[in-house]
Amino acid sequence: MDPFLQISSLSRAYRTGEVETQALDAISFEVAAGEFVALMGPSGCGKSTLLNILGFLDTPDAGSYRLRGEEVATLSDTQLTQLRRAHVGFVFQNFNLIDELNVAENVEVALLYRDVDGRRRRVDAVLEQTGLTHRARHRPRQLSGGQQQRVAIARALAAKPDLILADEPTGNLDSANGAAVIDLLKDAAAAGTTVVMVTHSALHAEAADRTIRMLDGRIVGETRL
Ligand code: ADP
Repeated sequence: MDPFLQISSLSRAYRTGEVETQALDAISFEVAAGEFVALMGPSGCGKSTLLNILGFLDTPDAGSYRLRGEEVATLSDTQLTQLRRAHVGFVFQNFNLIDELNVAENVEVALLYRDVDGRRRRVDAVLEQTGLTHRARHRPRQLSGGQQQRVAIARALAAKPDLILADEPTGNLDSANGAAVIDLLKDAAAAGTTVVMVTHSALHAEAADRTIRMLDGRIVGETRL
């Protein structure tokens, strides 16, 4: 069977005037469905570039990205948008919630292409799953950082994605709230969602099945628990 994610010799360079930065330098790895992978490495080593490519927000210059055996480069922009909407959930360090919407509405944003009844049912279910039912009518501003990140995770889980891409999801949280967020990601992986999480925390990386270490656009090490 094809691996869920298959990355082969993937490269991405940025050019600013005369200067070229090799953000990703021919990296290769595979991720199985339902695997929880932590991505570590110093600032500037290419972690965000890799997450953006995995989430179809950026395109590599060379190499191959196969999702369930299908070469992503052959898909049209419309297909990629559909794939992203239905199959990928994003979680960011700074939550990226919409202040003008309440918690339930922020989660509903991930489901706008569904009918209203289905949407409401799914929002209720995912708020319950993330322990936010009693906060449904609050605005993000009225919540703690930990609660806001739980809303972001609820939004990421709403469409029942196959893949969650999390960019330092615990970076702005204290240790108790960070641990709660990691538990939600672990639960998602246990339920079959593949999770790729950038983190600077060795402790949080231990929650993952595997840690991939990057340096200067390359993979320099892997630890499997
Ligand atoms: P990380 O997420 O590990 O901090 P990034 O993927 O953000 O690393 O960046 C990798 C390298 O690519 C860095 O040297 C960064 O300066 C460069 N880079 C990232 N985005 C851009 C961009 N839009 N334009 C130019 N250089 C960029």
